[in-house]
Amino acid sequence: MSVRRDAYDEALARAVLHARAWLDTVGTRPVGTGATADALRASFSSPLPDGPSDPAAVVDLLAELCEPGLMAFGSGRFFGWVIGGTLPVALAADWLVSAWDQNAAMAYATPACAAAEEAAAAWILDLLGLPASSGVGFVTGGTMANFTCLASARTAVLARAGRDVARDGLAGGPPVRVLVGQERHASVDLALRLLGLGAPHAVAADAEGRIRVDALDDALSSASGPAVVCLQAGNVHSGAFDPMAEAIEVAHAHGAWVHVDGAFGLWAAASPALSSLTHGMADADSWATDAHKTLNVTYDCGIAIVADAAPMRGALGVHASYLVADEHGAGDPLERVPELSRRARGVPVWATLRSLGRSGTAELVERLARHASALAAGLERIEGATVVNDVVYTQVCVAFEDDDTTRAVARRVVEDGAAWMSGSTWHGREVLRVSVSNWSTDDRDVLRSVDAVARAHAAIAG
Ligand SMILES: *Cc1c(COP(=O)(O)O)cnc(C)c1O
Repeated sequence: MSVRRDAYDEALARAVLHARAWLDTVGTRPVGTGATADALRASFSSPLPDGPSDPAAVVDLLAELCEPGLMAFGSGRFFGWVIGGTLPVALAADWLVSAWDQNAAMAYATPACAAAEEAAAAWILDLLGLPASSGVGFVTGGTMANFTCLASARTAVLARAGRDVARDGLAGGPPVRVLVGQERHASVDLALRLLGLGAPHAVAADAEGRIRVDALDDALSSASGPAVVCLQAGNVHSGAFDPMAEAIEVAHAHGAWVHVDGAFGLWAAASPALSSLTHGMADADSWATDAHKTLNVTYDCGIAIVADAAPMRGALGVHASYLVADEHGAGDPLERVPELSRRARGVPVWATLRSLGRSGTAELVERLARHASALAAGLERIEGATVVNDVVYTQVCVAFEDDDTTRAVARRVVEDGAAWMSGSTWHGREVLRVSVSNWSTDDRDVLRSVDAVARAHAAIAG
């Protein structure tokens, strides 16, 4: 059967209508969701229909059911976790990726996607000042980027110890010691667990959560054998960056592989004003970052970068008689990611970078950091509020008179709906966390959000 020329028209037209209705109001509606997960479960719970339904009607129903439970991540006043919005060009390119429905595993099968992703990869390496010959894989997010890089690290450090992990596995081989900062992201632990490397050794961090290089040196000196050091560019609480140049020098002196988790922080390197935060980072062996955070590409997209593409291929490449390997250029995408079948996630990255250009990318990162500083200054003016971190990038943590008050303010801000921030604990203290990650945040959003926090605090104090 050939597809009727107009087969997609009605369902797509409805989807565009609902998408526009959402995008038209995402900046003005209450930021939080209007309904709980339980309420949504109840409205979705119905038996599977016995027979088919009209696709356009299903699209309408889906939009109607989801609407009350959507969080306005795209709002300029959403500051929870570390969540990017979506730039118009990224969304439009992502729609095309869906319409084209290419399985971007092999260059032979989907040369357009492979070429667009290779071009995006080259631009990313250029923007971030990383080695141009690095292997780059487009994965689902920072977690899988960490996994992909650490799988490459595992292959490389064991190969140096004479072990072929792909053939021989881990059992009976030399142990791989993994050292991480006390405040590394939990996804690093998850990646190590999936890789069979167990729990890492945590190295002491300073007041901003940066790994202490003297403690790292001591830890590395206490044993020999294969070792991996995970550094962090961008702490989720403080935004702080590990001292890259010093830590990498120490780790390399001990023969360790150095991986950098820079899910949102790696992009500081794209800004001349902020790149000193990442000084020396290019000497590491692998880097993980997200495109769906700072770069504001649609969910989901992470980027795994490995300086030496050979262990990456060794860890992730697969061969099967029915696949067709590409012997040219960068090789096949499937050699640089854990998946075989895969969405062409790098295509919206290409479109986004093509649209922003070098200066636009730098300006985006600088704008996020500037708004974070403005939010910190505004919040600090609230009587009883203390900004507890040194605001060097996009993250702000604020505490109020005591933990109960901070918790109550966090709850109240969310209920109020004008802005959205998440609570957390940092260094034994309750904090209200602010992460500025959305391209659309402007000066007015900053003022309104400070007002929302002041209002929440006054309501509790009063
Ligand atoms: C968000 C984040 C991750 C995990 O990335 P996902 O995209 O959520 O998988 C890892 N490290 C840091 C520092 C992060 O902020």
